[in-house]
Amino acid sequence: MKIPALDLKAQYASIREEIREAMDRVLESQHFILGPEVKALEEEVARYCGTRFAVGVASGTDAILLALAGSGIKEGDEVITTPFTFVATADMVTALKAIPVFVDIDPATFNLNAGQIEEKITPRTRAIMPVHLYGQSADMDPILAIAAKHALKVIEDNAQAIGATYKGKRTGSIGDVGCLSFFPSKNLGGYGDGGMIVTGDERIAERVRRLRAHGAKKKYFSEEQGYNSRLDEIQAAILRVKLRHLDEWNAKRRANAKRYTALLEAVKGVKPPAEADYGTHVYHQYTIRVSHRDAVQAALKEQEIGSAIYYPTPLHLQPLFSDSGFRPCVFPESECAARQVLSLPMYPELAGDHILQVTAVLQECLR
Ligand SMILES: *Cc1c(COP(=O)(O)O)cnc(C)c1O
Repeated sequence: MKIPALDLKAQYASIREEIREAMDRVLESQHFILGPEVKALEEEVARYCGTRFAVGVASGTDAILLALAGSGIKEGDEVITTPFTFVATADMVTALKAIPVFVDIDPATFNLNAGQIEEKITPRTRAIMPVHLYGQSADMDPILAIAAKHALKVIEDNAQAIGATYKGKRTGSIGDVGCLSFFPSKNLGGYGDGGMIVTGDERIAERVRRLRAHGAKKKYFSEEQGYNSRLDEIQAAILRVKLRHLDEWNAKRRANAKRYTALLEAVKGVKPPAEADYGTHVYHQYTIRVSHRDAVQAALKEQEIGSAIYYPTPLHLQPLFSDSGFRPCVFPESECAARQVLSLPMYPELAGDHILQVTAVLQECLR
């Protein structure tokens, strides 16, 4: 039985009518850019995340760019972040000619190790950008404490964790500004590119609103250098339908993860993901550490089971960032994770017997 790493078709089948109705509504209105759907989605996402404001933008990458710019990050500023993430986290820092300063991860959660942040702070440090990787929050309290002590902004890369919580609060609402991605594969995915920032800071919200439209608050009256980064009405209409199902889908992801972990705990050579007790993990990915990873991945492929490596090369070892003078083994935990991680098939509709089948291949291969 073929088991893809991600299957979006089952989900679409379950909401086909709602989606078509929403898309028809936009087509009939012939209003495609920054209209009532985007406005309604912004209000609904702000309410969902527990922030006062939300601003729709063209992608998760743009959400990061505009959150940084909207927080005042500029040329020469330093932003502390993790090297174990998708490239967008750090290359939007360099896009502003600011400097990403990497700090290694906590091996238990794969997220920024707050205990190593303070030694990296310099007079040029302006922000800390934790990433809630795989759907689990970074440990935010120590990060917020360091940020408060040194007057730094906290920008959450929440592209993988919409719906996750940290001590009762939704991720994205904990720091100064949170960044969401609606890339189709994300827990709340559109049918194309899309993103959003969420914030409780009115000035950041206002500034991002301006930056997404050529720096103009009033049309054709630009106050600063800006961008064209808008969420479109069709995506917003689709996302409004999907947002209504998000909690149910995240609960199904959690149930699937529980099933995986129960089956994998007994398998030698596999370390299932750990859930920190401070919050709720929404399993954008179900990522194990595994010995003989390449052999395991090949065995899965042999059985037509999809899997993926997020991410094979930490950012400090990629050519884009290598002129910063980093060498291998500077961030041992990130480098070790990059060699060991394997993400198994995960989506809400994944069937129990599929999970059984995936874990059976692992068991057989690692015996
Ligand atoms: C997906 C993702 C992004 C970028 O989002 P896009 O919508 O693809 O631009 C940024 N950071 C992380 C951690 C992501 O997973």
